[in-house]
Amino acid sequence: MRPEDILLRTPAGICCRIGGFHIDPTRAVEKAVITHAHGDHARAGHGAVLATQETLDLMRLRYGESFAGSTQAIRYGEAVGLGDARVTLHPAGHVLGSAQVAIEANGLRIVASGDYKTVVDPTCVAFELVACNVFITEATFGLPVFRHGNADAEIAKLLRSVALFPDRAHLVGAYSLGKAQRVMALIRKTGYDQPIYLHGAMEKITRYYESRGIALGDLRLVKDARKAELAGTITLAPPSATADLWTRRFPDPLTAFASGWMRVRARARQRGIELPLVISDHADWDGLCATIAATGAGEIWVTHGQEDALVHWCRSKGLTARPLALVGYGDEDEETALPAAQEAGP
Ligand SMILES: [Zn+2]
Ligand SMILES: [Zn+2]
Repeated sequence: MRPEDILLRTPAGICCRIGGFHIDPTRAVEKAVITHAHGDHARAGHGAVLATQETLDLMRLRYGESFAGSTQAIRYGEAVGLGDARVTLHPAGHVLGSAQVAIEANGLRIVASGDYKTVVDPTCVAFELVACNVFITEATFGLPVFRHGNADAEIAKLLRSVALFPDRAHLVGAYSLGKAQRVMALIRKTGYDQPIYLHGAMEKITRYYESRGIALGDLRLVKDARKAELAGTITLAPPSATADLWTRRFPDPLTAFASGWMRVRARARQRGIELPLVISDHADWDGLCATIAATGAGEIWVTHGQEDALVHWCRSKGLTARPLALVGYGDEDEETALPAAQEAGP
């Protein structure tokens, strides 16, 4: 059996024909295995959805009760038989509930990573390395220029700025699902115990994180605060909100943005970001290369981002590699065209 007999590329995304399901399909399908709840991976309208409990809950928060015909939650490591395939989910370290999908058939194991990172994140279970024959890796930051560095050092930069400008409100743009909660947890890790303010669009998801045991301290809504009270405080908001009229409710706002793209100075300047914070929920170049090597896979399929450089790197290491060139996947940090209210769903 060849890998292509287990998984193939279709217009709706990666399909496991012998198992009768798609992984993170970009169109409505009969049966979907979903890696995590970000909008480009988790869409509404599938017949049946199999995912972790957290991913199903987050999809429900975003899309409403009837987001799928039926759902099945499985735990990390729990095996289910789908057609002639055996499927398990393993932590991807990307956001709460995120999973890699391992598919086994005829002694061959293929792992589809979904989005992943291998650095520690206090808001989700750490990435698990799964040995496999074929590894399907994302490549959002698949260029050697992308080295994310230390997220704690970026948070220290933010707190230094807050101390230095006690009259200014610090607005931190951060994607509503995952990034925002990670930034809050990293701030709390330093011992910072002042209230942290939230844009209304991230309230539901943040409360859900707390309900899963992730302590984020004293959180308040911006809409309940007086302007003067926001001086010298930190507010988390969807990236698009930090550039619109909403910022008028803050005294002398200073705009930050937590994203892997902040490594590129021009991007920060374009967006009018005063304080770029290089904090990413995706593996950087070194993380991608190290993970690919560690899986022991002889064949690598590259998708979701900057595919060519990573394919080239794999081949230089003697691995078989190919770009999948799937359409329909983006990077959550770049979804800035969405009005803030839409980012958290209905
Ligand atoms: Zn994602
Ligand atoms: Zn993604």
